This record gives sequence, structure tokens and C-alpha cells, in this order.
Amino acid sequence: MLGIKEAVECLNSSGVVAIPTETVYGLAAKVTNLQAIQEVFSLKRRPYDNPLIVHISSLEQLGEISKPLSQIELSIINKFWPGPLTLILRRKKKVLDAVTAGLETVAVRMPNHSLCLDLLQRTGPLVAPSANLSGTPSPTKKEHVQNDFGPSFPILDGGACTIGLESTVITCRANNLSRTRKNESVYSKTPSHSDIIIYRPGAISEQLLSEFGTVEYYSASQAKQDNARSKPILPSPGLKYRHYAPKARVQWFSSFDQLGAVTETRIVLLLDKTQVVNQAQAVQGSITSQELVQSFHLVDCEGSWERFGQLLYDTFRVADIENYTHVFVQDIRQSNTTSSLKDALINRIDKAISGQ
Ligand code: AMP
Ligand code: MG
Repeated sequence: MLGIKEAVECLNSSGVVAIPTETVYGLAAKVTNLQAIQEVFSLKRRPYDNPLIVHISSLEQLGEISKPLSQIELSIINKFWPGPLTLILRRKKKVLDAVTAGLETVAVRMPNHSLCLDLLQRTGPLVAPSANLSGTPSPTKKEHVQNDFGPSFPILDGGACTIGLESTVITCRANNLSRTRKNESVYSKTPSHSDIIIYRPGAISEQLLSEFGTVEYYSASQAKQDNARSKPILPSPGLKYRHYAPKARVQWFSSFDQLGAVTETRIVLLLDKTQVVNQAQAVQGSITSQELVQSFHLVDCEGSWERFGQLLYDTFRVADIENYTHVFVQDIRQSNTTSSLKDALINRIDKAISGQ
């Protein structure tokens, strides 16, 4: 474990450090250090065509990375930064190709985490993709980073992440024509008429963004279609890679009798246990809620969407560590409460279910 001074020293001498943010832990390297950036890709076993998000702590730092912003970008940044929102912006030429995978755009975010902001102030902009091996669930606490990279990996410990899901990734209409790689004249296959395009849902929801203009999703199916064409340039290359899935089989469920049919081991993530237990009692009559609870490894969020977000990836990781064969997730699509996290949670759980 590192203190902040050691973390700064390590980063300044071409090192890579796992750092806390409010979304997930990041694997950080200085944005100007090619050797350290290559180390990030290699440690994560991340494909080189999947660009990195640059983390900054001030608008001055943003100016080092991005060309001047449009009015809509400025308004969105004013409202949501620091926070779990990544903007794809037009890059300054000096940004390394390794960071942007050769795209003319760069993804940037200002995290809402005081220790991380303090670090960024001392080091300057850092790239920080999630601090996990590509394909495993993103890490939301230091133990998850240690699971993937070993117990002595350098980590700046900032506690458990308060959101627990990766940032919302968006671009604004002004940048739609900037999706090409350098020296190629192929433009977007999906011209859009919306002001804001969401590439990845996160805690900053479509509804929150709609205050600033019309919003549309760039869907995974659209990404697949674009990827299948002869000269594919995906606007957000990460869309084509597998994410968020544990080894265990993930399934939605809405009542305990669905679980009874499975005889193998299971862990069950519940937004609200009371709701499901009451249903089970109504169906099964004589079974007490305690008996039911004892039959399963239950993770109960007691109705809190925030808690559900914080525990989703942790539950996936516990499933793999404890060798559970199934993860059952309460079907939040049918919940009678709602949250700005809902779309992002459904997106990650659906991806885990389909193994994508
Ligand atoms: P991760 O670092 O694993 O949270 O993923 C970062 C996400 O941001 C991936 O889905 C990338 O494809 C996306 N991203 C990063 N840079 C860009 C960029 N310049 N243009 C479009 N998408 C980007
Ligand atoms: Mg990631």
C-alpha cells in the first residue's frame, strides 16, 4: 500500500499505481509517459485499440489535453464535474496515440474523489482504465485489485468506491465528425441528429443529461453492426470487448421459487430482500423467511440503489472466489422504486448475463 507521496514518486518515475476514484479503481500512469502507458496495457492485457480515459483535476489540465470546448460541453462539465461522466473531446496533437488508440478524440473525466484529485494536482493528468485484468469485473475496493495483480501491487487506498460502476461515456454533436483514425477519410457510419450520444450508461443518466439537449444511446447492437462492416471504426472502441462478467452464470430472478430449481451453489444479490421474502412466504406457506435466507448466500441492499451499485461487482467477484456456479440478481427492471443508476445497472447485468 502506498501513501500519496509514494504514489506521486512512483508515477513520476514511470511507475504504474492503482488509484481510487468514486466509480472504480483505476490503473494509473502519467499521460505523457509512453513506457508507463504501455505497461498499463500489458498489465491489464488490454487490446491496444481500446483507448484510455484521461483523468484530470482542473480545467487548466483539461486545456493540456483537449482543444477548446463547445458551449454544450462547457455547460455539461460545469454541471457534472467533478463526477462520474467522461466526455469524448477533440484532442490536442501532443496527446500520445497510445492514449487515444490513434483516434482524433480523447476521453476525459474529472473524478469526484478528494484523494484522487489531490494526487492529480501533484502529478498532472493520468490515464486510468479500470485496475483489473481485461474481462474480469471492475475493481471497487483494494482487495479486488490485489485479486488481479497480487498482494504487493502498489495501491493508493481510498476506501471502497462510492458508486461502484464505470463512468457514463458521452460525446456531444459537435464532435461527431471526429471519429476517424488519423489519415483515414472514413466518417461515422451512424450520423446522429442528437445533441448528446451515450456510449456507455453510468450514474449520470440519460434523464440528467437531457437538460442539455436531445440524448440518444449508441447501442451495443449498433456497435456490432458497425464492427462487422468492411472498414470498421467504432466511435467508442471499448464497445466491442467483453466486460463485466464473472465466471459464474448470471441470471435475473424475481421470486425465490425460481432459485429452488437450481441445485448447484448460488449467490443472490437483492435490491430489497423483504420484498422477495414476503413473496416467497405467500407462495410457499410454511417456509419461514429465516429458513429461506439460510438456504442461499444472500447479499441484501435493503432497498438502497446506491448499495446495489456498490455491491454488484463485489458480488461477481465473491461468486468466483467462492466458486459459486450461479449469481442470481433480483430483477430490478420490475422494481417499484427507481434511481438514476437503473439504466447503468441493467446494462452491466445484461452484459454479464450474455457474457459480453
Ligand atoms: P475503461 O477505461 O475500461 O473504463 O473504458 C474506457 C471506455 O472509454 C472504453 O469503452 C473506450 O472505448 C472509451 N473511450 C476511451 N477513449 C475514447 C475515445 N477517444 N473515443 C471514444 N471512446 C473512447
Ligand atoms: Mg475497464
